[in-house]
Amino acid sequence: MRLLVVEDDRDLNRQLVSALEDAGYAVDKAFDGEEGHFLGDTEPYDGVILDMGLPRMDGIRVLEKWRRDGRTMPVLILTARDRWSEKVQGFDAGADDYVTKPFHMEEVLARLRALLRRAAGHATSELSCGPVLLDTRSSRVVVDGSAVRLTSHEYRLLAYLMHHQGRVVSRTELVEHLYDQDFDRDSNTIEVFVGRLRKKLGVEIIQTVRGLGYIAAPPDAPKKP
Ligand code: CA
Repeated sequence: MRLLVVEDDRDLNRQLVSALEDAGYAVDKAFDGEEGHFLGDTEPYDGVILDMGLPRMDGIRVLEKWRRDGRTMPVLILTARDRWSEKVQGFDAGADDYVTKPFHMEEVLARLRALLRRAAGHATSELSCGPVLLDTRSSRVVVDGSAVRLTSHEYRLLAYLMHHQGRVVSRTELVEHLYDQDFDRDSNTIEVFVGRLRKKLGVEIIQTVRGLGYIAAPPDAPKKP
């Protein structure tokens, strides 16, 4: 899952990015509304954390422009404590949820998890695929009851495929959703990660769909052509 953080307070921006990276997400950042709007308009994010008070273009305008142009990614807005009207304007502009400053990082992470899983159509924070359980709260993966240790890239890959279970995901889509902007993107590395992940999981839940990409499905599910 790849996220965008738009926050002009540099310390807060850094804290958010590092907490999100620790939680297993690929994260891009912007420090003003114009830069944030541009990134959200051109890159396929799975979710955005958007501050309302931003230089160059305020958060409400950024959000309105995205929604007007058909950008549907989940957006969590950050609002000032005493400005209830910001929340109302934010929801009207297309926000999916809000957190009031100052906030606890755990709350931001929990609200974000909820947004991401709802966007992908899941009701709980634990995803399962056959014998594989993935807990998006703890970033832990368990196969047949035993914990499997994954690197952050392997975890992101598995989490993305499991969020979109039953649908073919192309290599390009994976590259776009697993790596941040600054990462040296090479779609061949996806193949390497898939290989390692299959080995570590030890069960066949990731099928290769020739010429199209990959699909996560329980081992006993009918194979896709
Ligand atoms: Ca601000």
